Amino acid sequence: MPVGGKKQRPAAMEHEMAVVTSPISGREWELPGMWNRMFEQRVIFDYDTAGFEKLAALPGGESLEWCYGCGKCVPVCPVDLVGEYGPRKIHRKVQLGVDLFEDPDLWLCTTCMNCLRVCPKEVDMIQIMPAAREVAVTNGNVPAELQDVFEKTFRYGNCQGENPRKRHAWTKGAGVPVRVLSSEPGPVDVLFYVEDYWSYHARGQEAAQAFARILHALGVDYGILGAEEKTLGDSQRLAGEKGLFESLMEDAVATLEKYEFVRIVTPDPHGYNALVKEYPKHGHQFEALHYTQLLAPLVDQIEWKTELDYQVTFHDPCYLGRHNGEYDAPRRLLEAIPGVRLVEMGRCRENGYCCGGGGGGMWLNGLTADHTTERLSERRVREAVEYGADVLAVCCPYEVSRFEDAAKSTGNDQLKVLDIVELMDEAMGNGAGA
Ligand code: SF4
Ligand code: SF4
Repeated sequence: MPVGGKKQRPAAMEHEMAVVTSPISGREWELPGMWNRMFEQRVIFDYDTAGFEKLAALPGGESLEWCYGCGKCVPVCPVDLVGEYGPRKIHRKVQLGVDLFEDPDLWLCTTCMNCLRVCPKEVDMIQIMPAAREVAVTNGNVPAELQDVFEKTFRYGNCQGENPRKRHAWTKGAGVPVRVLSSEPGPVDVLFYVEDYWSYHARGQEAAQAFARILHALGVDYGILGAEEKTLGDSQRLAGEKGLFESLMEDAVATLEKYEFVRIVTPDPHGYNALVKEYPKHGHQFEALHYTQLLAPLVDQIEWKTELDYQVTFHDPCYLGRHNGEYDAPRRLLEAIPGVRLVEMGRCRENGYCCGGGGGGMWLNGLTADHTTERLSERRVREAVEYGADVLAVCCPYEVSRFEDAAKSTGNDQLKVLDIVELMDEAMGNGAGA
């Protein structure tokens, strides 16, 4: 303000020169105050908190607000590698007014859990996304391809909409007897819960048949539910259909209670996750194993007949590895197969890449294709080829079809995609994986 008709210099806001002393070395140096004036005043916006409030009001949705923007989650998110994603980016979009309940981003997360592994604030997408999706499901705002799967699961008890009576049709081609408990009741050690893709998908059926031959060779006392089996529906739950999951759980528990068995063994890491993590929350306790966990302690009893000649790399399923901490059982099996040379990809074990099938991604290929530059399975197949693999070994029923499609679409038809049991079966002389 002019004083006495003269313009005054503004009062200095900082010392012209400050002396700073290091508390460690005792060394001193001078900092000229002019440095402060080299920066523009940062504009602080008032963000609309309505989006966060809607999410935080949902049980499980609270933690998105805890994000403090460190960005650690973004480089580990498999979707960000082919798009614009990661919890930090979702957090920012909501901050800037994106309505997550209406946005395609709601469906892109595969609930792979790699972000939660590194997040210092425990922002939990495995809770946030299903909670927000449940609202979208209730509002009827679900991608058509996913809605179709929900309806098929509701009507037929499997995601493919197949006839429940054909659930154990695969047993005919196994070449060994497979006991169906409704026809041959009585106690068994292992209840083999086959799940949808091993029951109905052509490549899954081959893996189921290989597994039956291995169990037979090992003398394992086991049986299946056959037509009485319904999917455990964990991916439907994560895709937002919690009600459907709970109704499937009631059906499964009622069926399981009819039979006497010691443990449930399933090839499906998603089903396994439901049994070990979700069922106990509802008071249902079962001893459950993934099939690799059943076979790993028995592998020394196997009589191998053929030496294979494969460079093999292994894809960790998110729901066996990161979600449930099992990294060694599949490797124990692969390392025991004669003639398998196991090479690890850069992203393996805790930092394993996602195939794109988790959290409902299995049934969202159309939507995902519109919002990403390539499929996650394509990226993974390219990585396997870069590591010189002849075989990409898997132990999740979702993955064979995903990776076989990806091998074709990326021009890598020479890459074989085989379940671990198919490799074992081949080395046991059955040649199913050949
Ligand atoms: S790692 Fe956690 S805190 Fe850091 S940006 Fe991501 S969500 Fe936010
Ligand atoms: S759970 Fe996986 S896909 Fe979802 S945001 Fe986290 S890292 Fe990305």
